[in-house]
Amino acid sequence: MMSEAIFQQQPYLTSLRSTITAVDGQWLELAASIFYPRGGGQPGDSGSMQVKSNTFSVLDTEKTLEGAIRHQLSDENHGLRPGDSVEMQLDWPRRFRLMQMHSALHLLCSLIPKGVTGGSIGEHKSRLDFDLGERSVDKQELTRQLNQLIQSNIPITQQWISQAELAANPDLVRTLSVQPPKNAQRVSLVNIQGIDIQPCGGTHVANTGEICELRVSKIENKGKRNRRIHIVFGEPQG
Ligand SMILES: [Zn+2]
Repeated sequence: MMSEAIFQQQPYLTSLRSTITAVDGQWLELAASIFYPRGGGQPGDSGSMQVKSNTFSVLDTEKTLEGAIRHQLSDENHGLRPGDSVEMQLDWPRRFRLMQMHSALHLLCSLIPKGVTGGSIGEHKSRLDFDLGERSVDKQELTRQLNQLIQSNIPITQQWISQAELAANPDLVRTLSVQPPKNAQRVSLVNIQGIDIQPCGGTHVANTGEICELRVSKIENKGKRNRRIHIVFGEPQG
């Protein structure tokens, strides 16, 4: 059963009441969720769920092939059943850092107009792999450019387009490491106004100014053409 993905329209919502639709051991499926299910390089959300007077920890969130969002409780003997009403609470500090990092990777994409071959979003550090070819990149210069975009307070907005519109604009998927789902009726388009626009199902901050200062910490060679660019929060060095 499909779950309503509330985080897509309301990425800043930190708590929500919903109903359990299925139980499989530690995993609970809910009718609607604010927890992002791991995917596209972004980890699944964690937090807690309250049912009556009991509070359960949520370790991870994932999406099933049928489109249900399921939440992994730390306790297998939770005694919860389909139909139970739960109050979910996001680990917001962690999710917000993931939103900052995720948004920062879009900025990195805009600065390096080359194919993305991989990537990973973490709470404290993230990375993107680029097929750079002959192009070279400089750690200090990239750090400066990233922070300039962050300080420019550029709005980040989300809109929906149809598969047909996406097919008519193949340039949009240029920098994607993960292709948008082919079966979805519509595709989420993330627009950093005037800077970068691409299909993405993850969660982002509403303005680049919310990202905070970042630093390119390392650029690794991964084969002849591939470079792995790491970013962390913090003051630029050197
Ligand atoms: Zn994104």
